[in-house]
Amino acid sequence: MTNRSSLKAEYHTLGCKLNFAEASTVGAMLAERGVQRCAEGETPDVCVVNTCSVTETADKKGRQLIKRLVRQYPEACIIVTGCYAQLKSTEIAAIPGVDIVVGANEKLRIATYLDSWLKQRQPILSIGDVSRDSRFEPSCERGDRTRYFLKIQDGCDYFCTYCTIPYARGRSRNGAIADLVRQARDVADAGGREIVLTGVNIGDFGRSTSESFFDLLRRLDEVEGISRYRISSIEPNLLTPQIIEWVARGSRAFMPHFHIPLQSGSDAVLRLMNRRYDTALYADRVATVRELLPDAFIGVDIMTGARGETPREWEKSYRFVESLPVTRLHVFPYSERPGTAALRLPGAVTVSREEKHRRVAQLSELSGRKLRDFMQRNTGRVRPVLWEHRHTSGTLQGLTDNYLRVSATATADLANTISQVRLEALDPDNPEMLTGTII
Ligand code: SF4
Repeated sequence: MTNRSSLKAEYHTLGCKLNFAEASTVGAMLAERGVQRCAEGETPDVCVVNTCSVTETADKKGRQLIKRLVRQYPEACIIVTGCYAQLKSTEIAAIPGVDIVVGANEKLRIATYLDSWLKQRQPILSIGDVSRDSRFEPSCERGDRTRYFLKIQDGCDYFCTYCTIPYARGRSRNGAIADLVRQARDVADAGGREIVLTGVNIGDFGRSTSESFFDLLRRLDEVEGISRYRISSIEPNLLTPQIIEWVARGSRAFMPHFHIPLQSGSDAVLRLMNRRYDTALYADRVATVRELLPDAFIGVDIMTGARGETPREWEKSYRFVESLPVTRLHVFPYSERPGTAALRLPGAVTVSREEKHRRVAQLSELSGRKLRDFMQRNTGRVRPVLWEHRHTSGTLQGLTDNYLRVSATATADLANTISQVRLEALDPDNPEMLTGTII
């Protein structure tokens, strides 16, 4: 392996949609310089691992993946980047067989690092100080299916006490509206129909350009050819009634789909977490969505066993979530992250591993019930579906405007088009899928 133009690369990404968007940008940049993506069954010369560090489990998954790739492809150049690489670079560099470790902001310069490695065959470790970095590295890439992920913002200034992301990705910064609109037009020109807006704290958009998130949404909505936008995840305090009302009544292409992190349904725990809202504000935002968009899909992130979540606070949290008319919960057990303020909270009780997992199981069960109810409420209705890839035995899969996964008998030429579909029943083989018929 001496010349990158004959190299084949394999990409592995863990974590959020933003990581996926950036990973495909890395792939596209390497491809531009001659490093092709491996076809199935080919042995890679280069493996790029884009890690996540949101929980201890994410770190562990990253380590296991890196070790497996080193074992499986001993001749390959192993490149590790992402949040875990940014936060624990020396730990990763010490894994035998790892060749290049680069931080979050060096991610898009991997081709240059690969060139140096090919010349010198010496390990490379390059981690910038993200707290000083105000650059915004743009990224807009096609996902595995028909959607594109447009990165509009990066970093976070919120410093929730449990979270390492501000240390891994740095301060909040964003692209300029004019540039993002241009990228959306390019997606439309390339035949893309749906764009998911990604970032770390996307509602905080505008810090570095003195523009507003609402203005960005309105300008993107005008881009011809894009039929659908989704806001990937937005803090409840930043999802203003003005935005909800506009999505419901003013926008052309923003879908009735929100993902609103809650993290805890206890006000005492939310205060310990340094979250910027209380349960009353959260309930109010969900009620506004339901009132204006009765069929909207509402996803919720929630954590169990955070410091301070006593049995009493857990009970309150569970009851609150149970009372919310939301669609699906993404449940995580709290994990202690070195360097976070949560470890220094005076007198906040800790929760045992077993108890955290018991609470996860209870909320997961609640999530399953809520999703089933929502799916059942939607059966019999007709909704627009954007078809994705060809599926087995003459069926296509796609998503409704309100984020329900549907399969139906369809011909391959319908992929990447939108059809009106009658939602018929829950798929007996897949609890998260509906079957439907194109009308
Ligand atoms: S809002 Fe809080 S949880 Fe989300 S990235 Fe910022 S600090 Fe982390």
